Amino acid sequence: MTVRFPFQQWITPRQPPEVERLLKSAAAQDHVVSLAGGLPADDLFPRAALAEALESVMREHGREALQYQWSEGYGPLREQVVALLRGRGVEVGQDELLITSGAQQALDLLARLLLRPGDLLGIESPTYVAAIEVFGLQRPRMVPLARGEHGLDLEAVRALVRGENQSLLYLAPAGHNPSGSSLSAGACEELVELSRAHDAFIIEDDAYGRIQFDGPRPPLRSFPGAEERVILVGTFSKMLTPGLRVGWLVAPAAVTAQLMLLKGIADLQTNTLGQMALASYLDRHDLDAHVDRCLPRYRERRDALLQSLAAHMPAGVQWTRPTCGFSVWVTLPAELAADSLLARAVDDGVAFEPGAAFFPVEAPRNHLRLSFSNQTPERIAEAVARLGASLRAS
Ligand code: PMP
Repeated sequence: MTVRFPFQQWITPRQPPEVERLLKSAAAQDHVVSLAGGLPADDLFPRAALAEALESVMREHGREALQYQWSEGYGPLREQVVALLRGRGVEVGQDELLITSGAQQALDLLARLLLRPGDLLGIESPTYVAAIEVFGLQRPRMVPLARGEHGLDLEAVRALVRGENQSLLYLAPAGHNPSGSSLSAGACEELVELSRAHDAFIIEDDAYGRIQFDGPRPPLRSFPGAEERVILVGTFSKMLTPGLRVGWLVAPAAVTAQLMLLKGIADLQTNTLGQMALASYLDRHDLDAHVDRCLPRYRERRDALLQSLAAHMPAGVQWTRPTCGFSVWVTLPAELAADSLLARAVDDGVAFEPGAAFFPVEAPRNHLRLSFSNQTPERIAEAVARLGASLRAS
């Protein structure tokens, strides 16, 4: 007997059910090469070093590692995150920092603290799907700010902050998913200036901040005057591993204190063992050196994708040339729908992420995201050849 619950089903999947079904079926078929899902490369995880860190924590600090802790996060890890941020030009006081269960939880806590139904949220369009979802639960009025390979529509930002008291913006200045672009220093300076002049606040998603192919990019939070205006969200997920679920946020101390209370309500604390293992890993290994070893591998995969696109895409298809991150954003001719293309593509042995879900409002159907991060150059080339064939047959 099926139990019927009298609750409204008000949470919908991020992709339409048919797309979800196709992506699941693609994942279950070995011969399908998936360029969906922005996963870090699992062959680059420092498995031996992390195994050693987990073991040594259990061996030497087992009682503490298996016990509850304060919501703020594990002390030594907090200091390491402060040092890591200092390396990127961000000075952080201990009372400004909160360790979170991934960047995703940081976004969730911020959404719940800062947004009420009907509040205005300026949000890049397209942007990270799960950010649209987490902010969407608060039912704000989302104002799309066009963002692409060549930057952010600053005119739209100006209009928004001038017209509104204390507006809130969600941006990914250094490492935008899905376009793979970063904002210029000039644009960052203007964003800080605008936020100061018009009492606006910016949530900076820096998840991909270190995954840069053309040299380092400072976060917006490192620009002069940003301390009071920019809330920084970061994570170990893309640099090291998402499996331990550890991220952080940096906000003015009074805001962080509130967020810490909310975190306590949400999950009491981020998992102790994961935090201690990370602290032990960071003690013995140079994370910057690890990231610098990963970057050429990601760059090679990006280049394989770009070369294959040039070789196999029919006329009328356009794509970004990412300088950061894990994926390329593709624009099909306006009459083609990526969600319809997916069914044929999976039959032809390739999967991708249809782009409509990346738009906070008014979603065009002719975009798709291809992730190069977790596939070898050979498989990427094969996948794009198959995609070209599917497109030509559409
Ligand atoms: N922000 C962006 C832009 C992301 O792509 C992701 C992960 N896909 C996150 C935040 C969440 O990362 P985490 O694993 O730290 O929760």
